[in-house]
Amino acid sequence: MENHKITRIRVQTTTSNQIEVKNLSHAYQTRRALDSVSFSVSCGEIFGLLGPNGSGKTTLFRILSTLMPVTSGTVCVLGHDLTTEVKAVRSLLGVVFQHPGLDGKLTVVENLRHHGHLYGLAGKSLRYRISELLERFGVADRAKERVELLSGGLQRRVEIAKAMLHSPRILLLDEPTSGLDVVGRRQLNDYLGALADTENILVLLTTHLLDDAEVCNRVGVLDAGKLVALGEPDELKAQVSGDVVLIECIDNEVLCAEMTERFDVSPVLTDNLLRVECERGHEFVRDLVAAFPDEIQSVRFGKPTLEDVFTKLTGNPFF
Ligand code: ADP
Ligand code: MG
Repeated sequence: MENHKITRIRVQTTTSNQIEVKNLSHAYQTRRALDSVSFSVSCGEIFGLLGPNGSGKTTLFRILSTLMPVTSGTVCVLGHDLTTEVKAVRSLLGVVFQHPGLDGKLTVVENLRHHGHLYGLAGKSLRYRISELLERFGVADRAKERVELLSGGLQRRVEIAKAMLHSPRILLLDEPTSGLDVVGRRQLNDYLGALADTENILVLLTTHLLDDAEVCNRVGVLDAGKLVALGEPDELKAQVSGDVVLIECIDNEVLCAEMTERFDVSPVLTDNLLRVECERGHEFVRDLVAAFPDEIQSVRFGKPTLEDVFTKLTGNPFF
């Protein structure tokens, strides 16, 4: 399957094809889990909410999936207010939770059939829809196997097929790639990309994995309940200038002072590494090592990643 990262969406943005979140806040007793978060996502987009553990992803996911009420701010889903039109919103949503929602003792088809019945689907049309979805998610040949015998990656795809049974226009997924190996993650991301692309579905997923965010059309970066960045992955990375150099040394404070004096750079200490953004990083690394040969233990250098974006915006390492 082709890589969908390169797909650039051209969608008309109107409230009727968008999720619009405005100034959404949420607190558990005194703990603030979301702090005035605003963003919108359009049909045809695959949007990733990226953030470290505890940043508020699941809280936002629970509110969007109507499991928790909006207590402050507004959410509008394809033109329907999430507070006053919960039923209308629910019919538009397919939801995949972080913890598996399949019955392992039942076969793939049985799981889907039961779910279809809950949505009032039956008979020939249900059979047709199930086989169409199993085909689409590459699990048709496993249809009659018990779910517990499938790999984690295949189970996740069956879950997505299940969430898509009633033909929702929006697919919400909480950490869909957690527990999957690299290949399983890549395949899943490709399937989700294809879904957004070919069916004009709005796919909103949460992840704490930077690789997952790279395949999204746009990402929103959450840190401690605040949306600290919003945009296309490449756009966000372009905010970090030039190259990123990470230096491990014997004494951070001493080297930081000496470097600042000698070179035109502003090192930042994160996670016990000195981090420098600069143009022509390769030349800087050469000059740096020549200038402080005894103080530097190792130097890493590369193009900015989303991790660098997060570190730049929050001053914290991403984990
Ligand atoms: P994430 O999914 O990004 O890991 P969560 O939305 O689960 O983040 O959590 C955000 C914050 O809210 C964390 O500080 C977490 O400890 C807190 N939190 C989450 N659920 C509850 C709850 N039911 N009661 C109290 N605090 C909670
Ligand atoms: Mg979570």
